Amino acid sequence: MKAFRRFAKKERSAKLEEISVPKPGAKEVLVQVSHCGICGSDLHAWLNHKGYESVLAEVTFGHELSGVVTELGKDVEKWKLGDRVVMIALQTANDPKDPFCQNGLPQLSERRRVQGLHLDGGMAEYVCVNEEFLIKIPTNIPMSLAALTEPLSVAEHCIENRTSIRDKDRVIVSGPGIIGMLCAVCARARGAEVLIVGTEKDEEVRLATAKKIGFKTITVGNKYAPLHEQTKNYFPDGANSLIEASGASHALGETWRSVQPNGIVTAVALYSRSIDFDLTQFLRKQIDLRTSYASSKPDYLRAFKLMEAGQVDADIMVSIFDLKDAESAFRESENLKVMKAVLNCRS
Ligand SMILES: [Zn+2]
Repeated sequence: MKAFRRFAKKERSAKLEEISVPKPGAKEVLVQVSHCGICGSDLHAWLNHKGYESVLAEVTFGHELSGVVTELGKDVEKWKLGDRVVMIALQTANDPKDPFCQNGLPQLSERRRVQGLHLDGGMAEYVCVNEEFLIKIPTNIPMSLAALTEPLSVAEHCIENRTSIRDKDRVIVSGPGIIGMLCAVCARARGAEVLIVGTEKDEEVRLATAKKIGFKTITVGNKYAPLHEQTKNYFPDGANSLIEASGASHALGETWRSVQPNGIVTAVALYSRSIDFDLTQFLRKQIDLRTSYASSKPDYLRAFKLMEAGQVDADIMVSIFDLKDAESAFRESENLKVMKAVLNCRS
């Protein structure tokens, strides 16, 4: 079978390879992959960025996959041939003694791993997945859309569990990458009014996409007024909530200016360097500074509900590439030429 694999711990060291179809272990299921998204973390791993040292030197990328069950390990109980599934990307084997499993936050357990970074993932024709880490796709959701479930679950975890966003709230999303965009979708689905912020380099694709799916946008950068001044045109009293999804340290440090007293700032991006910022400014406005990491099964299930409700404009956000063109899909993603690249692994 074809698989898009990393072959060395070096920048851009991945290529399409011909390898044998894996054999499912006793508790594993063989999934014929339909679609697999390229995530920001895949890009970081591909570029061998700092913070991704734990990614294997040789591994098939891909954790945002949809597919069909085609073979069962001998002890598999939950699945049958033909089931349509998505994979839980960040995996922690259930352990009743693990407090994080008990409290519904398995993604915070030290035992977690990401399939597609720490073991072979879904940018391939087939992938073996432990039966515990699969979720059935509702019948009315197409496979290409289902490949967005994982990033949408990350946004759902952020908005549902790490903000207090409600109907009529004023929300700023800083950073128009796919996680920011999906956070905006989740906030809008709860009745919030959402502004999406990007820089000049985001204008051509990302901010244009945000406008197409009905969001107001703001551009920031040297040539423009600061965000908090531009925000006043839309939210004179400031935002109730700000989601920081850009990963720009400076952007996070300045968020207090655009948020009303007693508001909430939630960081959902990863920052490549440490941040020096004026916490006293947050304190004087009693702004709650939170973080949000990954997602777990209930977030995936709510993601399905949003898709079923027609809230996710995948046709506008997604660019589909054949698996054989995975490398150019990575390059287009790196160069911000596409909003979200998804590989068709059955092409
Ligand atoms: Zn992802």
